Amino acid sequence: MPLTSETPIQYLKGVGPKLGQILKAKGILTIGDLIQNFPRIYEDRRAAKSIKDLMPGETVCLRAQIHKVSSYNLGRSKRKIFDIAVRDSTGIIHCKFFRVPYKGFFESFQKDDQIKLIGKVLIFRNQKEFHHPDISKINDSDTIDDVIVPIYVETEGISSHKMSKLIRLAIELLKKEQKFLLKDIVPPWVIEATQLPDLNESIEKLHIPNLELGHELTQQKTPYHRRIIFEEFFLLELLLASRKKGLQSDLAKPILGKGIYVDKLLKSLPFELTQAQKRSFEEIKVDLAKSQPMHRLVQGDVGSGKTMVAFMSTCLAFESKSQVALMVPTEILAQQHYENAVKVLTPLGMKVALLTGSQKNSEKNEITKKLSAGELDFVVGTHALIQEGVNFKNLGLVIIDEQHRFGVEQRKVLKEKGNGPHFLVMTATPIPRSLAMTVYGDLDVSVIDELPKDRKPIVTRVTYQNKRPQVLKFVSDHIKQGRQAYIVFPLVEESEKIDLKSATIEFERLKKELPDFKLGLLHGRMKNEEKDEVMIKFRNKEIDILVATTVIEVGVDVPNANIMWIDHSERFGLSQLHQLRGRVGRGSEKSYCILMLGYAVSEESRERVAIMESTNDGFKIAEADLEIRGPGEFLGSKQSGLPGFKMANIVRDIDILKQARDMAFEIFRRDPNLNRKEHVLLKEKISRLALIG
Ligand code: ADP
Ligand code: MG
Repeated sequence: MPLTSETPIQYLKGVGPKLGQILKAKGILTIGDLIQNFPRIYEDRRAAKSIKDLMPGETVCLRAQIHKVSSYNLGRSKRKIFDIAVRDSTGIIHCKFFRVPYKGFFESFQKDDQIKLIGKVLIFRNQKEFHHPDISKINDSDTIDDVIVPIYVETEGISSHKMSKLIRLAIELLKKEQKFLLKDIVPPWVIEATQLPDLNESIEKLHIPNLELGHELTQQKTPYHRRIIFEEFFLLELLLASRKKGLQSDLAKPILGKGIYVDKLLKSLPFELTQAQKRSFEEIKVDLAKSQPMHRLVQGDVGSGKTMVAFMSTCLAFESKSQVALMVPTEILAQQHYENAVKVLTPLGMKVALLTGSQKNSEKNEITKKLSAGELDFVVGTHALIQEGVNFKNLGLVIIDEQHRFGVEQRKVLKEKGNGPHFLVMTATPIPRSLAMTVYGDLDVSVIDELPKDRKPIVTRVTYQNKRPQVLKFVSDHIKQGRQAYIVFPLVEESEKIDLKSATIEFERLKKELPDFKLGLLHGRMKNEEKDEVMIKFRNKEIDILVATTVIEVGVDVPNANIMWIDHSERFGLSQLHQLRGRVGRGSEKSYCILMLGYAVSEESRERVAIMESTNDGFKIAEADLEIRGPGEFLGSKQSGLPGFKMANIVRDIDILKQARDMAFEIFRRDPNLNRKEHVLLKEKISRLALIG
């Protein structure tokens, strides 16, 4: 059997069962997967780095010798740090590890071992150092004579060198047996229009690079990188374009109405809508009146009043006798929305209900019965809403709050419960407009970019562990005046690997430090009923201080709480910090956000957290977050069922992204059903991706 890109990896010479398993764990199943496993960076031996000349912020490849391997506890904390010091003729630099990369890792290094290291140079207390670099021993067999050496991500059992050898072998065999490496799915006219290099040439050049490419290689800026990145974006955009096309062909019952209940609702409120709320609602109204389902995303910063816009849309649906379902990611949020709905929607004559996983079966059954009989107008719920057995009589509008927790899959299930319902998706994770257009290509976007007028800005301060007594005093002073506070920690239980203070342990400590107050604990491993109980107590002021993990991250609204103290704030993403901060500043009192840093925080992390001091604008923070963490982590990999990228970076490669988007939409203009011969491979690939997404 001739070797092709589809051939399973174990048929390649040199890949035994053990190596096969290791490759499989890396997602490499076929020869095609193997040759698309591209180098992370390149080592240019003409420009060998010496320790003395390392520049902060640069990612480098370094050859050095082991100087000393040690470990110690940090201060009085239980947190253990492993330290590998390496040296060359110009100096010594420390590599710090806050967890063990894999069993036996540290034991495998001895003094004077020759090593190769890849990592980013950081500054900590005015010293250059590496955190969690890739370090591997240089063996005698590692003597490739190339000047530019591709470096692959290493895992236990397969070195970069070995990976390179396997890939070279695969390329050689493919070329010999079938004269090419991979079938190109990008149509020739697109290649021509974009002037991208050939796919096969690109793959080969990335693994076996030319001398003259030098620096551009590591920056991933060569035309060959461009070619691979383009394809990754191109597939994403085609998927979105096809999804959008599919959505446009669906039918929906128009939701029309004079807005009788909307007016009544607005009259009952103690405040005026903001212009941004009005504008978003107008956009929704236009969509709802159509006989195609709305797919609209409302992006608004925390506290911008998205719920009200959702309730107004609900009123419109009620007027045209359609049922509305509001789905949220947590029980706490469901409870809160439900209570709100009872307060403002029930007086308008709406029958509202709550459906969550923690309810008794008898209760759930009763609600499902009423839903399918059409006796309920509005239901708020968690995932319980998409369970089998939940049916509606005439579900006309589905609202999804805090959508970054849900995937496309859930949207699909809900869609099938109605006959072409309209969709309103709300998120408080603002993302820059250009990006929103791209990653939510199948959604129309409204932006609530204005906060209600009465909001007081939140005072934010970054501080250190040694200021703890002052922070404690600050908190008690406010509680004595009748306020409440949140104290948030990154983890639930002390884990061996990441030795962080856990909320549970911290809770006991805080109880001793603040003996005059009532403290409650909330974390993800608690049962839902327990969580609700704590949350309700906090809202009713039976608890002064809520010690919590990020369970409270989204949506929770307790106006009397005016202090948010986040411990180990460097462990959180900026957008997450912003979400947490958004839990305060909801009442009439001035609010505070205290961002406490852990021990041994790098200068880089400190600067990152300090961005929070400089702005309260969720969009600005999102942009900074995106830049720092990259889109993968920023969006979460499951985000909207989009494929992950291997090489592409939405921020760095935004121009390639735009080009890919234009081309993808152009294809659907030219050939709406992708029936042309030159589009057949594409069609296949997209339908496969659509199934996964
Ligand atoms: P989010 O957009 O974060 O979901 P909410 O919908 O929870 O924000 O609104 C936060 C608070 O602001 C709620 O208590 C809500 O009643 C109030 N609110 C909403 N719109 C306005 C407005 N236009 N003026 C004043 N307060 C408002
Ligand atoms: Mg909300």
